[in-house]
Order: sequence, then C-alpha cells, then structure tokens
Amino acid sequence: MYRGRFAPSPTGPLHFGSLVAAVASYLEAKIHHGEWLLRIEDLDQPRTMPGAAESILRTLEAWGFEWDGPVVYQSRRQDLYAAALSGLQESGLVYACGCTRKEIADSAIHGIEGAIYPGTCRNGLPSGKSARAWRVRTENRIIGFDDAIQGYIAQNLELDIGDFVLKRADGLYAYQLAVVVDDAEQGITDIVRGADLLDSTPRQIYLQSLMGFPAIRYAHIPIVTNQQGEKLSKQTLAKTLDDRYPQTQLWLALDYLGQSPPAELMNASIGTLWQWMLTHWKLENIPHIRHAKIQPEPSLS
Ligand SMILES: [Zn+2]
Repeated sequence: MYRGRFAPSPTGPLHFGSLVAAVASYLEAKIHHGEWLLRIEDLDQPRTMPGAAESILRTLEAWGFEWDGPVVYQSRRQDLYAAALSGLQESGLVYACGCTRKEIADSAIHGIEGAIYPGTCRNGLPSGKSARAWRVRTENRIIGFDDAIQGYIAQNLELDIGDFVLKRADGLYAYQLAVVVDDAEQGITDIVRGADLLDSTPRQIYLQSLMGFPAIRYAHIPIVTNQQGEKLSKQTLAKTLDDRYPQTQLWLALDYLGQSPPAELMNASIGTLWQWMLTHWKLENIPHIRHAKIQPEPSLS
C-alpha cells in the first residue's frame, strides 16, 4: 500500500513551486494506486497567514486534486508532539539546553545548516542556567538513504548538523519532530517533496529510528527558483497561482518536471490534461538536479 502526502505551509497562497510539488506527489500516489493525504503545516503560527490554508485548499480543488481522508492541521496536534518528546525524554535521548542564540554563535563551528551546537548542555545544564530548548543527541555515524531522484545522500549528523532542537525556546515544537511524528501517525510510505528538504532528511530518518517508526521512501524534486536563483516564496514575491488558468499552470508544472507534455494540451480541458498526466507520468523523467530556474512565461499570470 502506497500512501503519499502533500504538506504545504500556509505562509501565503500556493505558488508555482508548491504546485510542482503537489503535482509530483499526487501523480506518484495515483500511478501506485495509493492514497494522497493533505497536511497543513501551520505549527509556526507567527509565520502563518490568516486565510492561506483555506486559499490553498480552494486552489487544489479548482485544479482537480482529490485528497484522501480529512485534512490534518499540525497546529491541532500538539498532544502528539508532546507525547513523542516525552518518550524521548524518558529514554534520555534528548536533553534540556539553556544556551542563548548568542552563546551558541560565539562558540560554534559551522556545518551544513549554520552553527553546530557545541554541546555545552549535553551532560546537564550548567549551574545558573534553566531549560530553554530541548535537543536530541546526535551520533558520530553515517546516515544515508537512496533518494529516487537525487541518488545516494549521506550525512554524519554529529559532524554536519550537531545536536538539533526538537522543542524551541519559544515553546514551539520543531518542524523536524512534527513532520516525523505526523508521517508515522498518518502511515506515510513515500514522500515526494522539494529538494530544499533534502538536507533535513537524514535528521528525520534518525528520529524515525529513535522512535521506532518504519522507514519511508524519498524522492526530492528540483526546487523552482526565479531568474535570480532564489527559491519561490512569499519573500521572493512569487506570483500567486491564478485559479482561472489551471490547465496552463499544470502544463507548465509537467514541463518543469521533465514530462514533455504535448503543446496542444496547453489549451485542452483540465480533465483531458489529468488523463494525459495519469497515463504518461514517469518519476524517472524528472531532472536529477537540486534546483532549476522557472522559465520567464507570459502566461504565468
Ligand atoms: Zn545549551
């Protein structure tokens, strides 16, 4: 049984970059006769835009996506994350950290994603410090996996990333913990998502192993960038998808994903386009690269 998912963050309406991820994960699920679940990753409430989740659902519906089961909202699942963290606390796999951002920056060396935590609180909070965040102990060993698009990816978490945060100083559960708990709880077998999360995957695999969750297969599609090479996002002023022209946008998403849709399908009905997609979709045609520029396209209104 194949079960995939699409998990957008409601920081703004859907843009072309998120559409590409939705298309790829959806078609993979469909050609495997699997299910496709929808999860709104709204854990970071300060970054959540009011109305964005509803707008994302409306757009997906307008484009002909059909999801299985109820939509899940991370903001309503705090109890699950709390239970997962307390399990890790009981096993001694996590520890309280009292360091401020500045203290870490002063003594850290740099890894793949910025400062590597120097381990100050690993053996207990120094006197006078109180717990701010919770970190998981990393290990000095290679964690590798075969990505269906990007090939073999490996990291040594202790040397490349360092002990990472599962519960933040502001009280929020970290993305890495929430996503692992949700994927396991929802029975996800396969994840197709943007390659901006490729470097997070070894951390997620490590957490899965600590919590005894089953392994997941991964495929990371190239991230869509603008002509300046920046990832499409609200910050880089990515254009909102226009619900009036779903077939054009879907055609462009297929083209971006290396599927070579016939030109005449750009003006076909959305039903005809879906039919073509479901019979011609091939994951192996996706370019084996981490990011690619979106073509300047007048019809991308
Ligand atoms: Zn610390």
